[in-house]
Amino acid sequence: MTADPGPAAGRPVAADPLATLLRVQDLDTELAQLEHRRSSLPERADLRAAADRLRALDTEMAALDAERQLLADRQQEIERQVGTVVARRSAIEQRMYAARGPEARDLQAMADEVAHLDRRRIELEDQELEVMEQQEPLEGALARLAGDRDALAAAAVSLTTALHAAEAVIDAEIATVSASRSIEADTLPESLRDRYESLRAKLGGIGAARLVGNRCSGCHLELPSMEVDRIRHLPPGTVATCEQCGRLLVRAPAP
Ligand SMILES: [Zn+2]
Repeated sequence: MTADPGPAAGRPVAADPLATLLRVQDLDTELAQLEHRRSSLPERADLRAAADRLRALDTEMAALDAERQLLADRQQEIERQVGTVVARRSAIEQRMYAARGPEARDLQAMADEVAHLDRRRIELEDQELEVMEQQEPLEGALARLAGDRDALAAAAVSLTTALHAAEAVIDAEIATVSASRSIEADTLPESLRDRYESLRAKLGGIGAARLVGNRCSGCHLELPSMEVDRIRHLPPGTVATCEQCGRLLVRAPAP
């Protein structure tokens, strides 16, 4: 069946609005699939995983770094104490060398203190060595983690590039399909287009369905045979509605 094209008044008018409606629905379904593909690109999931791993590494590194800082503070404190011991020792030695007359009686006490300070210094230096030994594995672990982090950050940069490239391909497809969709939709009678748009918004992106056999392709339910019969005998171009889901129902063209 060939429909005569309507008079060209203003915008083009669809010769067969119901066939056009189904094409618009198909293009909308294609757009929804493209959007879904865009949002579920594997690069996006990989990038999210890399970002999670980076955050975990940062947390791990911050904990190790805090531990290292504690040890560094401890080492600094020991070195400060060693400095005090050394200064005290050299002050006593000067007094020993300069000891004359009554002061000379304190020489033994001063020698005892020097010996005590020497023991204290050895003790502090042992402690410092211990602290430095504890720092070593931390430094090693931090260096390894920093290496992992650099590699992961580089991988994230490549993934971002790959993701943008994949998005650009899909965006180009979306632009093409959207353009066709707009041209087709603009030829629909306004009331039909408005009904379609509001049903589509309410019903999960599908506002128009085909009657295939006894079944509505929107809700996949079978219609009562009397209803199917009624729809089949509607004058051509009449819009039917699925009783079950409320979608616009278009008779599939006869084979
Ligand atoms: Zn239905």
